[in-house]
This record gives sequence, structure tokens and C-alpha cells, in this order.
Amino acid sequence: MKLILLGAPGAGKGTQAEILSRELEIPIVSTGNILRKAIQEQTPLGVQASTYVASGALVPDVIVVGMLQDYLDKNGYVSGYILDGFPRNIQQAQTLDEMGIQIDGVINLCVDDGIVQQRLGGRNVCQNCGSSFHVINRPPIKMNVCDNCGGKLVIRKDDVPETLLERLRVYYAATEPLVAFYTAKGVLHVIDGNRPMKQITEDILSKLIYIAI
Ligand code: AMP
Repeated sequence: MKLILLGAPGAGKGTQAEILSRELEIPIVSTGNILRKAIQEQTPLGVQASTYVASGALVPDVIVVGMLQDYLDKNGYVSGYILDGFPRNIQQAQTLDEMGIQIDGVINLCVDDGIVQQRLGGRNVCQNCGSSFHVINRPPIKMNVCDNCGGKLVIRKDDVPETLLERLRVYYAATEPLVAFYTAKGVLHVIDGNRPMKQITEDILSKLIYIAI
């Protein structure tokens, strides 16, 4: 099963991706995590991408698509995965079509802007595996330590208020048109992401029951 998680920054895509990945036993492919790893390791593409990520802008398609393709090839992911953070614009969605990747379902997590700001305010992510935590909604068992891999939890540099506003602007300008794109393809599921985490997961899973694995 190939799924896409759509939604504004802070809508809960990362958190739901982790839960769905466990429930459905398919890996997560997060372009944000791939980019952050490349930036941390200062690879040539990571260095090129860093200023875009730091300012909240989209990294150019040619860089992101290349990294995504490499990642899928290297990991041998062909049968199923959850795309978190890709596609981010219509061009990237068309590239998926051109790559012959058929998407079975697109989950659109809809969250009010006020809730987004509140959630991102307390977010921590694992420097090693990219898992996300929240001081109130999803605290780690041990402070500043990832429950999944023991890595160090850090605040993302692009979670500061000024960059967040830019990321929201970019979301509405470039990414939201994907809602119409995937509605037209008949694969979009709209989910109210303002509710508690568990309810959201149950709602998503109830929609996916109708998709053959
Ligand atoms: P995320 O972890 O998905 O919130 O992504 C963090 C940042 O990485 C974004 O604000 C963009 O700068 C960059 N990024 C992630 N995915 C993409 C993508 N598909 N296209 C362009 N830039 C991306």
C-alpha cells in the first residue's frame, strides 16, 4: 500500500506516520527527515538544501526528487510506504506519476492554524531517527531521549515563529492545491486533525480498510 500524508506543518503528519507505519507494517519515507540527515552530515546536496530548509522555503524539486529516488532505490522500497512531506507541490505529484508510482490513498489532515502553532511550540524531534515528540501531547519516557532509538531530542531550527509563518504561507500557496489534484483522482480522504491523536489514527485506519494491501 502506498500512502501520502498531506497537511500543514504541525498537522501531525509525522506522528500519524509513525503510528500507521507500526499498524500497517510499512516504512515511512519522510523527505524532511532525509533532508535533515543530509544537512547534518553536510553532504553536497544537504549543503545546497540547508538555506531553503532554514528559511521555511521549499527545496528545489530537482534536489528533493533526486534524494527521494535514491532513498527508495537504496532501501529497496517498492511494495509499500507512507510518504510524509512529499509531494509538496503539483510538479512533485506529477513526478510521482511519471515515476510510475501509483498512490492508493492520500490522507489530508486538516488542522486549525491556532492548533498548529500550539503543537509546534512544544515539539521535539529525534536527531537520529526523526521521530517526533511533544512536551504535553506526546512526552518521551525519558526527558530529551527518543523512545524509539535512544537518540537525542532537539527542537527543529525551523520551528521558530518567523519560519513557521513562512512554512504556513508556502503550504497554502504550493501544497494545498494537491487536495484538488488528489480529489480528482478519487484517492483523497479528509481527516479532522484537531482531535486527540488516538481518534485521528482510528479515523484514518477506518478509511484505509477499503484499500487492498
Ligand atoms: P518537514 O519535515 O516535512 O516539515 O520538512 C521540513 C522542510 O524540509 C520543509 O520546510 C522544506 O524546506 C523541506 N522539504 C521537505 N520535504 C520537501 C519537499 N517534498 N519539497 C521541497 N522541500 C521539502
